[in-house]
Amino acid sequence: MSRDREKPCSLCEKSAPVLYRIQYDGSGEWIFVCRSCWDQVSQNNPFYIYGGTWKARKR
Ligand SMILES: [Zn+2]
Repeated sequence: MSRDREKPCSLCEKSAPVLYRIQYDGSGEWIFVCRSCWDQVSQNNPFYIYGGTWKARKR
C-alpha cells in the first residue's frame, strides 16, 4: 500500500506527517520541510519566512 498521504521534505527527502511551509533562500519559492530541517534553516536566516503547517490527513 502506498503512503502517499505523507509528503517528502524538500531538503532531506524524508516523508513526514507534518511539514512546515517556508521560504529560506530569498528566491521566493515555497518549500515544505520537516521539523529537523526547519530548525536548521530557520535559525539566523534573514530570508526565512514561515507560511504555515501542512499535516497529512489521517483516517
Ligand atoms: Zn527534512
